[in-house]
Amino acid sequence: MKGMIAAIKILYLLLLIGKAMQMSCATGLIGFCPLASGSKGNALFLGTEKTRILIDAGLSAKAIADRLSQIDIDPKTLQAILVTHEHTDHIAGLAVLAHRLNIPVLANAETAKGIIAALGSRPRFKIFATGETFCFGDLEVHPFSIPHDTFDPVAFTITCRDIKMGICADLGHVTSMVQKQLEGCDFLYLEANHQISMVHSCARPQVYKNRVLGKQGHLSNDECGKLLERLHHPRLQHVYLAHLSSECNTPEVALDVVRRHLNGKEVDISISYQDKISKSVIFK
Ligand SMILES: [Zn+2]
Ligand SMILES: [Zn+2]
Repeated sequence: MKGMIAAIKILYLLLLIGKAMQMSCATGLIGFCPLASGSKGNALFLGTEKTRILIDAGLSAKAIADRLSQIDIDPKTLQAILVTHEHTDHIAGLAVLAHRLNIPVLANAETAKGIIAALGSRPRFKIFATGETFCFGDLEVHPFSIPHDTFDPVAFTITCRDIKMGICADLGHVTSMVQKQLEGCDFLYLEANHQISMVHSCARPQVYKNRVLGKQGHLSNDECGKLLERLHHPRLQHVYLAHLSSECNTPEVALDVVRRHLNGKEVDISISYQDKISKSVIFK
């Protein structure tokens, strides 16, 4: 009898350990969290039950690891880094992180060339073609062209189960293709870089102003708001305003301008911050 009780106790203990292990595997965000957004560095986390990736790695590897720990993600569980374009604020920590974690860098061929030229090192690439959907884990990734001043800049829609996420920043203007691709998203990460009047009045040189305001520069609050007004639909759950300029924008101005364009249409909007992690959204 004593033996049987002991056996039951052991079995119960094993069950508890199993449950605890299951819970520890399930920890961490199943959803999306901007770790950093802006001209001083960009890195976004996206995780599902099966797949964990970064989109861009523009902070140091250490800073990215620190910010991941704040959402309970061990960097060692990342499976790839997806890259939008080769500007330093999107790739600064890329080579170190990819090498340290031994994970591939997913980029198109032109961006890969730009990364090698900029960083002077060659991470392990998996090359995708702009405009062609590919699968990674349980993600369906669609990279599409955006107008920006690098070799072959892209934005992404990422679909998992029936959830569609649009990630679109660093673009000078909204093309009809950009709008088409972003239709029907449940979550949007959209650039609201600057307030045009603040660019004109800031102390930066004219060459900087021309670039930011140019067709291959960055998206203004007004352009973001107009796009969002057209993309709004009842299933749109959350919108991040992204890549805000620290000099020529403020969270308050960006939110105010975008909301004015929405003209009473309801949607959750939050800011993607530069110097801290932003609000997470959970994929349900
Ligand atoms: Zn950027
Ligand atoms: Zn850029």
